[in-house]
Amino acid sequence: MEKQITRRNALGKIATTIAVAAVAPAAFAQSQNKKTNPAMGPDLTDPTTKYPRPPFKRQFQPFPGLAGKMDPIPDHGEKTYVGSGRLMGRKALITGGDSGIGRAAAIAYAREGADVAINYLPEEEPDAKEVVALIRQAGRKAVAIPGDIRTEEFCKTLVARAVQELGGLDTLVNNAGHQKTHESILDISTEEFERTMKTNIYAPFWIIKAALPHLKPGSSIIGLSSVQAYDPSENLYDYAQTKAATTSYVKSLAKQLGPKGIRVNGVAPGPVWTALEVSGGQTQENIEKFGEETPLGRPGQPAELASIFVQLADNSASFTTGHIYGAAGGSGQP
Ligand code: NAD
Ligand code: MG
Repeated sequence: MEKQITRRNALGKIATTIAVAAVAPAAFAQSQNKKTNPAMGPDLTDPTTKYPRPPFKRQFQPFPGLAGKMDPIPDHGEKTYVGSGRLMGRKALITGGDSGIGRAAAIAYAREGADVAINYLPEEEPDAKEVVALIRQAGRKAVAIPGDIRTEEFCKTLVARAVQELGGLDTLVNNAGHQKTHESILDISTEEFERTMKTNIYAPFWIIKAALPHLKPGSSIIGLSSVQAYDPSENLYDYAQTKAATTSYVKSLAKQLGPKGIRVNGVAPGPVWTALEVSGGQTQENIEKFGEETPLGRPGQPAELASIFVQLADNSASFTTGHIYGAAGGSGQP
């Protein structure tokens, strides 16, 4: 009983914080978790028209790109995500938490009651500052740890700082990723190949190794796979194989860590409107028609994936480990 009252009080606090934070009109009119008056009938949102559809304006930003400079600006749930205390008191580290899918997870985690550390590249400070402010507006602790995850040394420092500043760690989202389109394998330099491998495969390996001694039973690790793991595009030769590797590490580690009570799962998005795509991840031709091939006829927005990250971290998903959750608008696997 004592516990329930504490939780309810905490939920009340979160609701107040969000009400204060969500004063500006939404970039996209529809809500994620709209509370409805039952007399008004169900809250049905047509997914085909909920968000912008192609054609998109051609646009290019130098890597790593900023979400704040995209047109249209992606929806990460800033104005819409409403939490309900599902991750109260949790301590999460999210790589690439400044923008895109990682930002959507960071906002949702904070509004669900978690303290959140985000990692990002120093060039992404403007995006990261916005996320830090949003986490604090949710009444949670925000820790910003800029740095390049392509060295083991930094990955160790990253985890050590997150553990120290959060006072522990129980949720790790290995979300950072590098994707660059190349028409031919002959166009991929060894340096470029190495960047993709180091960011997408080595860094999660180093970060998980550093984090593991701190993870207690009930903790959750989440990796970022992709539809590319199952149906690789001709122009993403190096990137696609890193996503297949991610699916594999998730399944292997789930078996290894299951007996220790640590769950390991993955998320496999289809086309999602993020900085990665407009900073070399796709050709300009593909940007223009981005998401067109999905049955919903549009790309996903990061906000549409947030609830998956919450679910995979939540204690209520205690029998879910070794799985890959998809969000691909109808044409992806698994
Ligand atoms: P994003 O550009 O918003 O996020 C990727 C982040 O990775 C960047 O913000 C950056 O902080 C981080 N990053 C890249 N290289 C880094 C490095 N060397 N050191 C530290 N951080 C680095 O794009 P996103 O689409 O949200 O990407 C998030 C994840 O989702 C990636 O793993 C990506 O492969 C995966 N994914 C994206 C899509 C999509 O369509 N956008 C589809 C499937 C999978
Ligand atoms: Mg970014």
